[in-house]
Amino acid sequence: MPKSATPTHCPYCALQCGMNLTVGPDAGVEVAERADFPVNRGALCAKGRTAPALLTSRLRLTSPLVRKGGKLEPAGWDEALDRIAGALDGARHKHGPDACAVFGGGGLTNEKAYALGKFARVVLGTSQIDYNGRFCMSSAAAAGTAAFGLDRGLPFPLEDVARTGCVILVGSNPAETMPPALRYFTELRENGGTLIVVDPRRTRTAEQADLHLAPRPGTDLALALGLLHLVVAEGRTDEAYIRERTTGWEEARAAAMAHWPEYVERVTGVPVPQLREAVRLFCAPESAMVLTARGPEQQAKGTDTVGAWINLCLATGRAGRPLSGYGCLTGQGNGQGGREHGQKADQLPGYRKLTDPAARRHVAEVWGVDPDSLPGPGRSAYELLDALGTDIRTLLVMGSNPVVSAPRAAHVEERLRALDFLAVCDVVLSETAELADVVLPVTQWAEETGTTTNLEGRVLLRRQAVAPPEGVRSDLEVLHELAARLGVEKGFPADPEEVFEELRRASAGGPADYSGITYRRLAEENGVFWPCPASERPVGAATGDSTGTGARTGGSGFSAKGTPAEVHPGTPRMFLDRFATEDGRARFVPVSHRPSAEEPDEEYPLLLTTGRVLAQYQSGAQTRRVDELNAAAPGPFVELHPRLAARLGAAEGDPVAVVSRRGRATAPARISAGIRPDTVFMPFHWPGAGRANTVTNPALDPTSRMPEFKVCAVRVEPVDRD
Ligand code: SF4
Repeated sequence: MPKSATPTHCPYCALQCGMNLTVGPDAGVEVAERADFPVNRGALCAKGRTAPALLTSRLRLTSPLVRKGGKLEPAGWDEALDRIAGALDGARHKHGPDACAVFGGGGLTNEKAYALGKFARVVLGTSQIDYNGRFCMSSAAAAGTAAFGLDRGLPFPLEDVARTGCVILVGSNPAETMPPALRYFTELRENGGTLIVVDPRRTRTAEQADLHLAPRPGTDLALALGLLHLVVAEGRTDEAYIRERTTGWEEARAAAMAHWPEYVERVTGVPVPQLREAVRLFCAPESAMVLTARGPEQQAKGTDTVGAWINLCLATGRAGRPLSGYGCLTGQGNGQGGREHGQKADQLPGYRKLTDPAARRHVAEVWGVDPDSLPGPGRSAYELLDALGTDIRTLLVMGSNPVVSAPRAAHVEERLRALDFLAVCDVVLSETAELADVVLPVTQWAEETGTTTNLEGRVLLRRQAVAPPEGVRSDLEVLHELAARLGVEKGFPADPEEVFEELRRASAGGPADYSGITYRRLAEENGVFWPCPASERPVGAATGDSTGTGARTGGSGFSAKGTPAEVHPGTPRMFLDRFATEDGRARFVPVSHRPSAEEPDEEYPLLLTTGRVLAQYQSGAQTRRVDELNAAAPGPFVELHPRLAARLGAAEGDPVAVVSRRGRATAPARISAGIRPDTVFMPFHWPGAGRANTVTNPALDPTSRMPEFKVCAVRVEPVDRD
C-alpha cells in the first residue's frame, strides 16, 4: 500500500467494497486495490472504480442556493440556514410540529441517520420522518422480524454463501448490482454447490445458474408455496428441527398444502418438473440458503412473499444452522445501518420500537429529554410524500432523490411543488434539489469520516481521504447549525466520532447493539459485526467460529476513547443457538397467494417490472454525473421479448412508450429473448420522459408499507421518431 493511501469504502451499494484512495500531486484522487478487506478482496465494479470522479465533478455544488424571484441563486451559509430554520420554525408554530417533515436516505452514514432521527424528534418534535430505505428492504425486515424476532439482512457473512450446498437467489441480479459479490456464487458452484435463480428475466446472474425459474412478476409468493407443498408431499421436511426450533408449523403447512403444483404452474408459468427439480436441488445437500432482494420484496405483498421463502427454510431445517439460513441482499450503501438508528418512521436507535415504553425511556435518557415528549410513529415514506402540501407544509430532504426514485413519481413531484418550503442537502443539484427553496452543498464519502453497516451487518469505518471543497459543509454540521437556530444548543455535535459515541449508548441493550464498537476497533479489525454489546453476549446470537473480519491493521490513528474493558468479538453468525424471539424459536407465518394490486386487462395487457443496470446506481443522482458510467449506460430502455416487439412492429432502438394508469415513460426498445413475452422491463435510474417510476404503482404492503415497484399493468405503444 503506498504511504499516502487511505483505506476506505465505496460510496455506493451495500457490499461497501474496501478500496484505498491516494491523492496525487495534482490533487487528483486515485482508487487502488485494497486486498485486506475480506468482502471484495480488492475487486471493484465500474461504479466503485470511477467513484473519485464525483469528488472533482464540475457539477458539484460548492455554494448554498436560495430561491429568489423563482430562481435558485448562490447565497451565503448563514442566509441559507436562516431561511431553513425560519421556515421550519414558522410551520411548527403555525400548524404544529407535524407540519414539518424530514426525509432521509439509506446512503447516509450511521451517524447522520442517528442525528437526523434525533433532530426530527427532539428539535422539531415531529413524527413525520421516514426515508428511502422504506423502498429498499422494508418487506424483508418485516418478514425477518416476524419469523426470527430480529432482522439483520444477512445473519451470516457472505463467505458462507460459497460454502453452502445450494442457494435459491430470488429476485436479485448481483452480476449488475454488486458484481464483486458474484464471486461467492461462482465459488459455490466450484465447490460442488448449486445455484437456483428466480427471476422473470434471464439476467446475467440467471445465466450462471444451475436452474433458472422465470415466474410471472408478482407470483413468487405462489412459487415459494408450491415448493413448500412439494417438500411436504415428498417427505422432505425436517421434523425434529420443526419440533425443537419453531412454532406455528401446522397453520403454515395447511396454507402451503392448498397450493398444488399444477395450480402454481398455472399462476406462475413455471412448469411442475422445474418445481420438482428446485426442491431436489435445495433439499439434497446438508446445508442450503434462500437469499432475496428487491424482486420479491418490492410488492404490495412483499412481507408475505419473503415470509413464504422463510417458511421454506424453516420447514427444511435451513435457518440458524451452520452454512444455512435466510438472508436479504440489502441494496443501498448503508441500507442496513440506515434502518437501525432512528430515521425510520416507527423506530428509535438500536433498532428499538418507537411504541415500546422501555425503549422510549432509554433513548430519552440518552437524549436528555422527557420520554413523553417524543412523538409516536409517523407516516411511511410514500404516505409522507403523498401528504406533502396538505398537513405537511415544509420538508427537509437529506440523501434522497424521490423525484426519480419514488413510485408514481409525477404525483410525488406535484406534491413536492405544493409545499410551502422545501430544503435539500445534496452533493449535486438532483432533480429533487431543483425544486427546492434552499439547497445546501454537503460533503460526500471520501471527504468525511463516518460508519456504515454493510449487507452482512458488518459495521465499517469509511475514512476521510481528501479535504472537502471550499464552501461545502457536512450534514452533521448542517444539523448542528439548524438545531442551534431552533433553540437546541447542545446534543448535535458536528464531529462524527462524538455522534457515534452517543449512538453506542443509545443502541446499548437494543436489538442492534453497537455499544461494544469503537472507531478504533473498526479501524484495527477492519469492521465488527453487530450485535456487539459492551460486555455481555447478546440474546438470540451466537458468536460462531470466527469473527469473520480481516486481519488487524494496527496504527489506526484513533484513540482508545470508549473502548470497553471487556471486548465482545461481534456476531458474524446469528441464531445458531436460538432465535431472537421470546421463546428462542422461529415462527412460521401462514401465508397464501393473492394477485398483485394491478393485474393485466384489455386496456393494460402487459406487466412492467423495474430494476437496475451495472453502470448506474439508484436514482442516478451521483452516477449520471460520471462520464465513464454515462457512456456505458447513457439512458433508459424498454426490454421486450421478440414476439411482443414483432406484434408492436418495434425494432431494436425504436422509441416505445410504456403506459400505465399513472402515466407514460418513453425509451428505446431493447429486444431480448431472455424476458417473458407477457412482461416488459425498465431500469429506473433516469428522470424525464424515460422515468420508469412515472408508471409504477404506489399500492402499499399492509405491514411493511413497501410500494409495488416490481409489478404493474401496462400497455406498450410505438412512438413516432421526431
Ligand atoms: Fe462494490 Fe457496490 Fe461499490 Fe460496486 S458499487 S464497487 S459492488 S460497493
